[in-house]
Amino acid sequence: MKILLNNLDLNEALYNKSNIGFIPTMGSLHKGHISLIRKAIQQCDTCVVSIFVNPTQFNNKKDFQNYPRDIEKDLKILRKLSIDFVYIPKIEHIYNTSNIVKIKLNKKEKILCAKFRKGHFEGVLNVMTRLTNIIKPSKIFMGEKDLQQLILVRKYIEKNLKVKIVSCKTIRDKNKLALSSRNNLLSKDEKLKAGKIARYLISFKKQLSIKKSFKKIIPNKKKYLEELHDIKIEYLELRNKFNLKISSKKKNAKLFLAYNIGKVRLIDNF
Ligand code: AMP
Repeated sequence: MKILLNNLDLNEALYNKSNIGFIPTMGSLHKGHISLIRKAIQQCDTCVVSIFVNPTQFNNKKDFQNYPRDIEKDLKILRKLSIDFVYIPKIEHIYNTSNIVKIKLNKKEKILCAKFRKGHFEGVLNVMTRLTNIIKPSKIFMGEKDLQQLILVRKYIEKNLKVKIVSCKTIRDKNKLALSSRNNLLSKDEKLKAGKIARYLISFKKQLSIKKSFKKIIPNKKKYLEELHDIKIEYLELRNKFNLKISSKKKNAKLFLAYNIGKVRLIDNF
């Protein structure tokens, strides 16, 4: 495994390589990231994992500073997976270029996390454009846990930059909590609580029947969960899993959730 700390080394390493698989991450790797990496290794000839905590996608400075980082542990995990290249750029390597990247979401897209985290997806799309231009992968592997992100990257980057976005299933712990680097910031009790919420919503989604009015049931469930677990839910909404339109049907729909537990913001979909 080769560690690449700047763009010159990266260009040299990837010269003449084809069928490149790219797995963008912000580090603090867990089994969710590992599942993406394994899929990439199966499908591609050369694989690049990036570890970059992207400042432009944080709408809150403290959140950026507190984001869990553990490069040594990450490198240990990656060595075991026999990944070809790890790219660990500094902020200036990504942003000190003359390339101006300006992607603006339209009004209809300002829903779910885009509504609650102003500028977040513009930051994600900005860094994903830059990373894709630098690495020039054939495929980018992304998790369904962040489905809104995946859909927006598909829309804004897949066609423009001629790269295929491969979506990968959400990996959960034994309590059904979706793995996330942010889980490192939770106490043991908060983790158990988050697992209970995930389990509850997985079974609630299964039980949703066609006859009942989702318009009433879902806001009621939101209130119920907030009171029971002393949490603040930003959104709990049933939406189409391809175009994110509000759905009144269970078919092709997912329940999208974002909430704060203690000081940590978690998202999931079921
Ligand atoms: P992050 O490091 O949180 O920016 O995530 C990097 C990639 O891993 C993104 O494409 C995420 O959607 C994906 N990912 C994060 N958590 C999971 C999970 N539990 N299961 C599958 N993919 C995940």
